[in-house]
Amino acid sequence: MKQGGLLFPKESTRKKRKKHHKSIIDRDMKNQCFICGKTGYTERHHIYGSANRKYSEQYGLTVYLCPECHRTSDIAVHRNKEVRITLQRIGQRAFEEKCGSREQFVKTFGKNYLEEE
Ligand SMILES: [Zn+2]
Ligand SMILES: [Zn+2]
Repeated sequence: MKQGGLLFPKESTRKKRKKHHKSIIDRDMKNQCFICGKTGYTERHHIYGSANRKYSEQYGLTVYLCPECHRTSDIAVHRNKEVRITLQRIGQRAFEEKCGSREQFVKTFGKNYLEEE
């Protein structure tokens, strides 16, 4: 089921039995922007950057974004803190659903993104 372009996906994503060698984020598809749903050229974004970038890679916490949503527009994830945090929350939920406990997440990424709502 595709809800292209929804920044806040429905919570009802059922557990999929899927190997996560790539992204573990549901609905994440190459050639479609995770945020706006636009198809075409996309860039791979690591949900947690700098020191945590390698863990983003390791756990598949990446999404494909169009250049606007990634870098250039006002709501681009690298320019807009709210958008960034929204993705980080989505990432943490995916981690907790598929990879490990909240404790493990916080231990790995150094922060609990689901607490500050
Ligand atoms: Zn986009
Ligand atoms: Zn990025």
